[in-house]
Amino acid sequence: MPARILIVTDLHQRGVLYAALVKLANEIKPDAIILGGDFLHGTGMLPYGQTQQLTPTLCAVELHTIARPMLLVRGNHEDENWFEFRDAWKSLHGSDPIRLNGGFALIGDVGVVGFPCAMGQEEAFSEGEPLGGEHYTYWFRHLLADHGDDARKLWIMHEPPTGTQISKAGSLVEGHAWWRDAIEEHHPELVVCGHDHTTSIRRDVWQDQIGATKVVNVGQNMDGPLHATLVEISASGRLQCEKLVMD
Ligand SMILES: [Zn+2]
Repeated sequence: MPARILIVTDLHQRGVLYAALVKLANEIKPDAIILGGDFLHGTGMLPYGQTQQLTPTLCAVELHTIARPMLLVRGNHEDENWFEFRDAWKSLHGSDPIRLNGGFALIGDVGVVGFPCAMGQEEAFSEGEPLGGEHYTYWFRHLLADHGDDARKLWIMHEPPTGTQISKAGSLVEGHAWWRDAIEEHHPELVVCGHDHTTSIRRDVWQDQIGATKVVNVGQNMDGPLHATLVEISASGRLQCEKLVMD
């Protein structure tokens, strides 16, 4: 079954980015939407950007207007703010939000793995599961054993793998060396990440390769427009992605 998956990262509770996501999602009606971390903004941290910052409750209210399945991957900014967001989501939907935290989902024919994020306070989002600070070999081998090649299709990780054009070398947002090791070991078809908001925008370079794996950054300008990527299966059966921008 063909699938169209819309992926965004780094919304950081910015009203303008949430509004653009609602508009884009309701326009293109994807089969699923994945938020690749930092959809909230770290508790007690000064807001990024100049435009309105939503509360975690208002973020859940905005997302509730999108009538599409949604999967959440953690970034370094999801900390105890998760509890307010989760409770608001639960009261709106009558069910828990779906997290991919070192987990697997099948969307149409596309196997999706959501990586954990070892940065920041991961205890709240992890909801009692093993934490992302563990080396990937501890959790990924279970996904591979259960799902085989489907676990090597689409990977979503907040932090990029190190050593590509889409994050700044030697900086806090360069990414995770283990994630690069995981890509070099398992050769997923497509990796989507965020975390470094500025390098892709500054260089106007949105993708790179690690071996046969394409790595895409969808990092945001905090005051818009929204950057997103739409992943689909091509006629040849390979994953392809299209960069989308929405005001
Ligand atoms: Zn971010």
